[in-house]
Amino acid sequence: MNLWQQYLRPKTVTEALQALKATPGPACLIAGGTDLMLDLQQGRRPPVHMLVDLTTIPEMTTLELRQGELYIGAAVALSRIAASTMAGQHAQALVEACNLIGGPQVRNVATLGGNVAHALPAADGTIALLALNAQAEIASLQDRRRVPLGGLFVGPGQSSLKIGEELLVGFYLPLYAAHQASAFERIMRAQGIALPILNLAVWLERRSDRIACIRIAVGPGGPIPFRAHATENALNEKSPTTEAVSSALDVLLQEAKFRTSPQRAGAGYRRHLAAALLKDTLEVAWQRAG
Ligand SMILES: Cc1cc2nc3c(=O)[nH]c(=O)nc-3n(C[C@H](O)[C@H](O)[C@H](O)COP(=O)(O)OP(=O)(O)OC[C@H]3O[C@@H](n4cnc5c(N)ncnc54)[C@H](O)[C@@H]3O)c2cc1C
Repeated sequence: MNLWQQYLRPKTVTEALQALKATPGPACLIAGGTDLMLDLQQGRRPPVHMLVDLTTIPEMTTLELRQGELYIGAAVALSRIAASTMAGQHAQALVEACNLIGGPQVRNVATLGGNVAHALPAADGTIALLALNAQAEIASLQDRRRVPLGGLFVGPGQSSLKIGEELLVGFYLPLYAAHQASAFERIMRAQGIALPILNLAVWLERRSDRIACIRIAVGPGGPIPFRAHATENALNEKSPTTEAVSSALDVLLQEAKFRTSPQRAGAGYRRHLAAALLKDTLEVAWQRAG
């Protein structure tokens, strides 16, 4: 049985959206296909009439500085982000996350937009983008809008994108400024090639011996990619001393909902790992920001 009947390689976002609307049967967007092809082949998704490839749209495969922000097209491959000095300067946590996802073959085709659109609470690229305060640009045939990344998720594997009507065009990230830095770390099973047991990204701004501002994202810390606002509040305007980090960890363990997942880890183990990841990423970002 064919998993699709037609494969379209549009040149513009409008062409892709028009194809989605006009197709006589079900249609689906495809970027790297690393998630989607497995879903189709293993029957988690029924066969479709048309696949609409986003990697032929120049606007979506651009990585550049754009009017005071870093723009990363949704169809940019993870390996390109990992190798980009521009991304390294402005979005270190994202580069670190992209470098860890899958293996080289996966990273060469998998895209940041696919990572976000799949809406998994522990997706590595998504967690880094969340800590970096990224905004997503969404296109429909009617308009374009920008939303904070966190506003995109409604449940495990579910985004707020209107299926068949909307797509992610790209992501906008604030540029690096003095005494700001970020870091990303994750814990994987030794033989693991898919999602991590736990990951954590930190972005912070340092003012002499204090944290002037901080953002922390953890995955999986709940049903959607999780931003640890209460933990951030516990660290704001503090020096990252052992005591301050320990109090912040208590807050993180209260606000995050670590759960047991049969294939990866128990909730207790994840709570244990959260301590190490919070301490390490905070320390790395703090040193970098100095
Ligand atoms: C062996 C292996 C290892 C992996 N390891 C990791 C890992 O370590 N960490 C991790 O986070 N993930 C991992 N993944 C998951 C996957 O590779 C990533 O989530 C990847 O970034 C998905 O991107 P893609 O371009 O391949 O998406 P696709 O498979 O092309 O698409 C995924 C979904 O997103 C939709 N979509 C894609 N682009 C857009 C867009 N621009 N707008 C709207 N919808 C869109 C598609 O319709 C589809 O529903 C792994 C996968 C494999 C197979």
